[in-house]
Amino acid sequence: MTNRTALVTGANGQDAHYLASQLSASGWHVVGTSHGSPGIRRPAHFATIEPLDLTDHAQVLALVRRLRPACIFNVAARSSGAGMFDDPHATGLVNGHAVVSLLEAMRLASPTTRLFQASSSEMFGRARESPQSESTPFSPRSPYGAAKLYAHTMVRLYRERHGLWACSGILFNHESPRRGESFVSRKVCRGAAMIRLGLAERLELGNLEARRDWSHAADIVRAMRAMLEADGPRDYVIGSGRTRSVAEMCDVAFSSVGLDWRQHVRSGEPDYRPSEPIQLVADPSRIGEDLGWHAEIGFEAMVREMTLAELRRAEPENPT
Ligand code: NDP
Repeated sequence: MTNRTALVTGANGQDAHYLASQLSASGWHVVGTSHGSPGIRRPAHFATIEPLDLTDHAQVLALVRRLRPACIFNVAARSSGAGMFDDPHATGLVNGHAVVSLLEAMRLASPTTRLFQASSSEMFGRARESPQSESTPFSPRSPYGAAKLYAHTMVRLYRERHGLWACSGILFNHESPRRGESFVSRKVCRGAAMIRLGLAERLELGNLEARRDWSHAADIVRAMRAMLEADGPRDYVIGSGRTRSVAEMCDVAFSSVGLDWRQHVRSGEPDYRPSEPIQLVADPSRIGEDLGWHAEIGFEAMVREMTLAELRRAEPENPT
């Protein structure tokens, strides 16, 4: 590709950070969009930040027409734990309808642009089979999952009907020190660090036996890039293919700061959903076969990295 401009939506998010870091290191001119107020601090690795209301079709069209980027990574979303159910109208607009604005903008003003859409394993909802692959039926159980499924479907329709290079990655959970604070991985790692530093006594969690397919965000973002560099647009399930429990996460986090989690963690606060009747876990064989992608950063290394980052954050001289 001679055009080396990449547009990444939701510049302040976790995946946007890793995308900008990897793309800029490979010589890309990375432009971010942000729904926050203009004048916000420019996140690292972005050349510029464009204020953008993704729900405003005219704004999206004007930006795509002006930049004509080689690729767009749509990783903006209302995606916190609470955002699964709160304000379903806003979730529908941002997580669902905004993608149609991007696709329309590509069709009208920049038809050679390639689009990556961040779909979600939440689209499987009450899954009918395990593990989940690209052919597993969808059955979302939240406005978040339903909006993601609408976006996912529209990406396929624009690919088939208008011949656009548009594809979706069905992403399973992925974490890093940049993960949002409402997610259980951040709570576990932050809890271990705070207790290590004597700033908290114990950590209250929900269902310790809940299992998830957790990967590192840096690995997931590598898959997004590989999808846009492939010979053609195709949707893929992206995950590690292995589940770990919240208790296992506690074990790694607390032992990486020299503590025994059993002495500090209580299961009670209902902040984590009960175990799924059918396990949500990725079958990433198609992306492995087609693009040679597989997760490289292990669960233990990821949880240790997150816990040590929390330790640094919690030290009084490093407030963030
Ligand atoms: P984050 O929540 O870290 O980042 C999402 C970003 O979207 C925010 O930082 C914000 O950036 C932007 N955003 C938030 N609310 C709005 C809004 N109302 N209107 C417009 N933009 C908004 O998400 P991740 O990086 O973890 O995830 C990236 C994508 O992958 C998301 O689409 C998510 O749904 C999807 N996904 C993530 C999974 C995970 O485990 N992390 C699993 C499955 C799917 P800014 O303030 O700069 O606008």
